[in-house]
Amino acid sequence: MNTMNSDDEAAIEVRGLIKQYGNIVAIDNISFTVRRREIFAFLGPNGAGKTTTIKMLTTLLKPTHGAILVNGYDPTREKDAVRRSFGIVFQDPSLDNELTAYENMVFHGVLYNMPRKVRQERIKTLLQLMQLWERKNELVKKFSSGMKRRLEIARGLMHHPQILFLDEPTLGLDPQTRHLLWEHIRELNQKEEITIFLTTHIMEEAERVADNVAVIDNGRIIEQGTPKSLVERTSSSSLEEAFLTLTGKAIREEGPGNTLKITRKSFKRRV
Ligand code: ATP
Repeated sequence: MNTMNSDDEAAIEVRGLIKQYGNIVAIDNISFTVRRREIFAFLGPNGAGKTTTIKMLTTLLKPTHGAILVNGYDPTREKDAVRRSFGIVFQDPSLDNELTAYENMVFHGVLYNMPRKVRQERIKTLLQLMQLWERKNELVKKFSSGMKRRLEIARGLMHHPQILFLDEPTLGLDPQTRHLLWEHIRELNQKEEITIFLTTHIMEEAERVADNVAVIDNGRIIEQGTPKSLVERTSSSSLEEAFLTLTGKAIREEGPGNTLKITRKSFKRRV
């Protein structure tokens, strides 16, 4: 790991990050900064490297090379401090369906050693914020997909993280629920001054809520800036059009592009 000077106004700093899975270069030397209290959208086609990057930022995966700071801490050497700094909502639901909404929240608070009184107050604040307080004693298995997603977000915020990672938070939700969820996320971003790092395949959502976006393709960041600046730079009429101009219209098959690149390189080395 390279050392990096911490920027107080940066929630996340990434420099020269590389991740290889065997011969596959999943992340190919990326650098970006997420400012504190901003909503940052990390956009890219399937297999571009979004989840791999999130895993490295959240201590779940070790980078092959490069430097990362999350809330001023290095995820490879200061795992506990990094883990206290963020909350995360994964693509796959991870609630306990046999517990009530309230019990799911308590369970998370206990994991973070929160004293009972603090825990109770926090649960009330968050369930009210996500409009779930009236349903707190219902079993999660009776919840709709939208309610479950809201509860997962509330749970991810239990320990007062400064940064919230949302990996495709609106996946599988209807337009009404998506709209409501973004309202909640924006409110949260303003009320609790939380930095939001999100991924989505719905460009219209990113255009509406994100302060800044980075577009990743084949493991490389090909453009970053405000949604408006990307639209202008590509002479497009929307972020979706800008995204397609930048990443092309071909459907992505996962993996072979990068495999081929590394194979060609090693082939050249041998001849
Ligand atoms: P999606 O939008 O489909 O979630 P993504 O942008 O999150 O895609 P990643 O899951 O980060 O993409 O994958 C990036 C690349 O790394 C892909 O080519 C993928 O096949 C490869 N990859 C991911 N995990 C592994 C692994 N454990 N072993 C080998 N290759 C992997």
